[in-house]
Amino acid sequence: MRSYQIVAWGEPLAVNELPTPTVSGEEVLVRTSVCGVCHSDLHIWDGYYDLGGGRRATIEDRGVTLPFTMGHEIVGEVVAVGPDAKGVQVGQRGVIYPWIGCRSCEACERGDDLMCLTPRYLGTRADGGYADHVVVPHPRYVVDFDGIPEELACTYACAGLTAYSAMKKLPELTPADTVLFIGAGGVGLSAVHIAPALTDARIVVADIDPVKRQAALDAGATHAIDNGDEEQRRALMESTKGGVAAAIDFVGAPATTKFGMDVLRKGGVHVIVGLYGSELPMSLPLFPFKLMTVRGSFTGSLEEMRELIALAKAGRIPPIPVEKLPFTEINNTLQNLRDGHIVGRVVLGHAS
Ligand SMILES: [Zn+2]
Ligand SMILES: [Zn+2]
Repeated sequence: MRSYQIVAWGEPLAVNELPTPTVSGEEVLVRTSVCGVCHSDLHIWDGYYDLGGGRRATIEDRGVTLPFTMGHEIVGEVVAVGPDAKGVQVGQRGVIYPWIGCRSCEACERGDDLMCLTPRYLGTRADGGYADHVVVPHPRYVVDFDGIPEELACTYACAGLTAYSAMKKLPELTPADTVLFIGAGGVGLSAVHIAPALTDARIVVADIDPVKRQAALDAGATHAIDNGDEEQRRALMESTKGGVAAAIDFVGAPATTKFGMDVLRKGGVHVIVGLYGSELPMSLPLFPFKLMTVRGSFTGSLEEMRELIALAKAGRIPPIPVEKLPFTEINNTLQNLRDGHIVGRVVLGHAS
């Protein structure tokens, strides 16, 4: 099989011919049809996350060795099943849930893969979908998406799921409340599309890029502001009569997190999702004074991905803009994503 692999951190991916994997036990072999390109691929490609203060969390420290195959927004077709893989048929197509645990610890046994301490996430810890085939450890991770185009369905494994799970962590909201989404890249834009299915609150999107602000408005955001503009920040505080009820930071940079916490009203919740990185000094008395909650959210559970796909099947989530390109465009796509040139999602597929 053909795999597009990291052979040196941060260097262009190489095309390698590898033996097609065989499956055993409960494993399922999936032939990749499409795979979405995600912003977090850039961190894996570089080989580290920026923890701030010169500190890095390296991908190698997480047990990943090169060559490595990224790609975690996978749709494909089951082409082989292990002898113990039940409830799955060769020929079945599915979105692959990639956030898979070790499958043997206590968290994994209760089906809480995201709480596993030694995860085997496809495309970030174990070989993923930038290849002709991918090994999925159990049939439960192959989720039906009947009626949804595959290039859209794959985005529900990360961009959509991340947005959905972050939104489920928000407090109860009324139509008078305002929720702020910071960053209108692939995940932030997914959040704008999903929001009406989950809340009646006003949705304000903040982005420093006017093209992305326009995309957010086109997607149905109530309002879009430039978070780099002091005047627009003040207007937001005024129009919300003291701040937003909740903010989701899809960037996760010091400036965006500070912005979100600054414009939060009393009792507000700020959810950090983006992995841009670095660190932020915080005024601790503001936590009690503002009765403020700051929490993190990482992708989402298998159950949440099923809920999201059910909403999409029911026609309750308008599609995000998706551009389909051949796998051979992978290095250009990663570079374009790094340069901020991609609106919505690029999904790679095999030339047909
Ligand atoms: Zn992702
Ligand atoms: Zn585990």
